[in-house]
Amino acid sequence: MAEQPGREELLRWRAAKPSNYFDAVPELTASFEAWMGPKFTLALRDKLSNFGAVVAAEIEPAVRIVESNREFPKLHSYDELGQHVEHIEFHPAHDDAARAAWASGVLATPRTYEGAFELAGLFFLLSHVGEGGLGCPIVCTIGLRRALETHGTKSLKERYLPGLLETDADTALRGSQFLTEVQGGSDVGGLTTLATPDDALPDAWRLSGEKWFCSVADADLFTVVARPVGAAAGTKGLGCFLVPRSLDGVTPNGFRIRRLKDKLGTRGLASGEIDFEGALAYPIGEVDKGFHIAVTELLNTSRWLNAWGSTGIMSGAFLEASTFARHRSAFGHSIDFYDGVREQLALMKVETAAALASTTGLTELVARIDGGNASADDLALHRFLINANKYVTSITASEVVHRGIEVLGGNGTIEDFSPLPRLYRDAVVFESWEGTHNVLCAQVRRDCAKFGLSHVVFQWLQSELLDVAPWLSTEVDTVLTLLNQLEPALNKTIDNSSELDATFRHQLTVLTRALQATCLMRIASSPSSGEVEKAVASLFVRLHLAPRALSEKPTWLPLVDAVLVVK
Ligand SMILES: Cc1cc2nc3c(=O)[nH]c(=O)nc-3n(C[C@H](O)[C@H](O)[C@H](O)COP(=O)(O)OP(=O)(O)OC[C@H]3O[C@@H](n4cnc5c(N)ncnc54)[C@H](O)[C@@H]3O)c2cc1C
Repeated sequence: MAEQPGREELLRWRAAKPSNYFDAVPELTASFEAWMGPKFTLALRDKLSNFGAVVAAEIEPAVRIVESNREFPKLHSYDELGQHVEHIEFHPAHDDAARAAWASGVLATPRTYEGAFELAGLFFLLSHVGEGGLGCPIVCTIGLRRALETHGTKSLKERYLPGLLETDADTALRGSQFLTEVQGGSDVGGLTTLATPDDALPDAWRLSGEKWFCSVADADLFTVVARPVGAAAGTKGLGCFLVPRSLDGVTPNGFRIRRLKDKLGTRGLASGEIDFEGALAYPIGEVDKGFHIAVTELLNTSRWLNAWGSTGIMSGAFLEASTFARHRSAFGHSIDFYDGVREQLALMKVETAAALASTTGLTELVARIDGGNASADDLALHRFLINANKYVTSITASEVVHRGIEVLGGNGTIEDFSPLPRLYRDAVVFESWEGTHNVLCAQVRRDCAKFGLSHVVFQWLQSELLDVAPWLSTEVDTVLTLLNQLEPALNKTIDNSSELDATFRHQLTVLTRALQATCLMRIASSPSSGEVEKAVASLFVRLHLAPRALSEKPTWLPLVDAVLVVK
């Protein structure tokens, strides 16, 4: 039987998929260049380009095997000889993907200005395949490494840092971080896991209690937030502890995994419910500073990289949908001929570019902090953006993948036709972990009230907008007009404790969108940018920041074609 023309199109679509995610996303280079300038060296480009190819050729097929065969992690509490082991079994393809990811050096990137960009770029490229059972272990391991580097004792550093920095996945130590308990993940101050000083070992403690969401349950080193006996209630009294999985290499160190959770997304990742029963633990830093350490080292790292994860997912979804639209025909035309499809693709592209731009801006702040050159304003901006950017990028990622599923039509809903269903499920999970939307908005509101963050943000935006190229003057005026209206309204919400948080959430969304627009305009103003970058920034401003009447045709429609030009 002759091949159906529709199938030939699909074969051509498959052949056209990217073989290197770094090359396929020139926006990453443009964004890094706009912030790093000449520090974005050829050596870093080569490293990212090599890994972009590895993600497409090795990691993506391995992740697909795990997902399409539903070969998710399995818990074996006891081994074949009846020993208590709490072993988690992964499909060999998961281990192959992990070897390729670790070999990139993502866990060994130096804690320097350039190192922050290297880590961000590698993690972004990896995230084109979603979480893949790899993103969370990498993020948790980096968080633990940072906590130990900053607060660990000499002996903890000597014992564990080399393993956490290892590039061989078979010998590397993996970290995890357990805060959430059944009474609530948002209300961390309500946790009840108890830490008691060990009777015999001077620097050791014993942990007992139940943790409800424990991802990377296979980790070698758990980071556990617990309440030292006699400590104050709330977050102030909490300690941050390192719990080795085993003290003899076989027997679990005072814990039992009740079960692994059956999740909507991130299904290649082992997320368990764990009971601690006298686990030997070492404090990381002072025991009464645990919450501060967990926030600054663990959560800030996770929220920064979560945004890169969401951005990678968006970028992967856009590449999938845009290549599909070029090859799929309906009514005698490839579907990217139709305005309705082109608008969806343009919105996907613009949102991805905006997430890339603001998350690169955040990375520059992390880089300055890591490089030891951060000013007080940098620290304030970082404090704002780490939460606001995670909030906005994670919501947007689900919307972008959803649009991609629409572009693929019914095929978009089929599990093994494309990665979009998996990316969609992962994106939804990314929204809730590392802090839900309301919790992040509430945190920003508290920080604005306490540290005057919004003042710094408005000042920064105004000074950045002064540097935008003249050909974007209309967009600059639109953003400045909006900021002038927003600033007093936002200050009123911050000052007036009787106003509902929902007002603040709405205002914060607009402010963060203004910040993303400003970052896009910075990229569009750089010498290597042209008409496409300008159109991306213009469309974004019209979409999110310009006043518009609902009855009118959307003002961004004339820009759709300009946005979709492939450079
Ligand atoms: C797949 C997965 C893996 C995870 N892995 C880990 C892990 O490894 N370690 C870990 O510690 N945690 C982990 N988590 C838990 C995650 O961090 C929590 O789910 C998250 O912090 C929210 O907590 P919760 O689920 O208890 O929601 P709740 O705290 O019950 O919140 C429910 C809803 O109420 C809203 N809400 C709560 N308080 C307020 C308020 N004051 N104002 C307005 N709205 C509010 C929230 O925004 C949310 O929408 C994981 C979660 C998932 C989904």
